[in-house]
Amino acid sequence: MSGYKELEHKAAGHDGTLTDEDGLLIFKPLNEQELQFYKDVQQQSVANQDKEEDGDVPLESWIPVFLGVLDEGHNVPKNLSKDVQIVDGGEDLVGLVMHKEDQNEVDTREKRFLVLQNLTAGFKKPNIIDIKLGKLLHDDNATEVKKQRLLEVSQTTTSGSLGFRICGMRIQANERTSNLGIDHHELQPDGEYIFINKMFGRTRTPSDVVDAFETYFANSSLNIERRGTLKKLFFQRLQLFYNTILNSEVRMISSSLLFVYEGDSSRWDSQNDEDALISDDFIDYEDDEDSDSDELPSKTPLSLMALIDFAHSKVTKGAGYDENVIEGVESLLNVFAKLNEPSI
Ligand code: ADP
Ligand code: MN
Repeated sequence: MSGYKELEHKAAGHDGTLTDEDGLLIFKPLNEQELQFYKDVQQQSVANQDKEEDGDVPLESWIPVFLGVLDEGHNVPKNLSKDVQIVDGGEDLVGLVMHKEDQNEVDTREKRFLVLQNLTAGFKKPNIIDIKLGKLLHDDNATEVKKQRLLEVSQTTTSGSLGFRICGMRIQANERTSNLGIDHHELQPDGEYIFINKMFGRTRTPSDVVDAFETYFANSSLNIERRGTLKKLFFQRLQLFYNTILNSEVRMISSSLLFVYEGDSSRWDSQNDEDALISDDFIDYEDDEDSDSDELPSKTPLSLMALIDFAHSKVTKGAGYDENVIEGVESLLNVFAKLNEPSI
């Protein structure tokens, strides 16, 4: 596909996820179960629209905006990312599905992609961590071999002991990253970023996992106050997310929390260090009619937390909350309580 490039700012996962030229969208190789999850969550949110909930943040506020399915081979309008229409009906969104025009390509395997909001859009220097939730890492569809392997991964990592595991990070090198083991990270070609790989996360223990988060936040371009702001914001987001999960009926296996923060201090300056706990900006474009249209459209957050990766997740109405995931969130709350303790 031309006009698309491999997504560069990634903390973990497989290759093959693309982004457009402007980096507003991502295109993730389609998995039917993941597509179904996005559709179900969306439908649920439409159904709940007039039910004024008890103040909880709804699940869909944590997940990337889902725009549809893209079939490779179809010519995507060049300006797609500029004037993407966010249709607000559950089914209508899937109306963005693009069908293959060129029927000559019968023998090329059809490649389909989920089209999602790029969560790192607008960040000048995104610093990303991917945290896989859950003790249980396999679902019923796993082969026996895969099941055994994933049981072993769980038993030997913080997945088993804490219910979450750091999958990876892509961050600017900082004063703490020089202490990382040689086989746990790779300096990126730009010389500025480092990629912390899955072996790092797999070898963390309950006693050093707080340190790992300290490394994530130890950005040399941000002063102590700003780092403190980030730790506080993510702690508050986790508290809100905890309530969301308690009130959501889903079963998530191998889904991740993705944290992103801005490592470019000029963006902090220009926003007076102000950041929103939850950012629904991508959706809010439509509702913005009454606000000054001269204003810069970019209300890019300085940091955000999102829930991603639903290839093994499903909406399970009537099943109560997800016990497998809630424990990991509790452990993360404990970690962030420690990170937020005043230093002596
Ligand atoms: P996989 O199924 O290969 O594990 P994920 O959905 O977990 O794929 O994505 C892998 C990585 O890609 C994540 O760690 C994250 O850094 C990046 N990523 C995924 N979804 C988004 C998104 N919507 N916006 C920005 N980055 C994303
Ligand atoms: Mn993943």
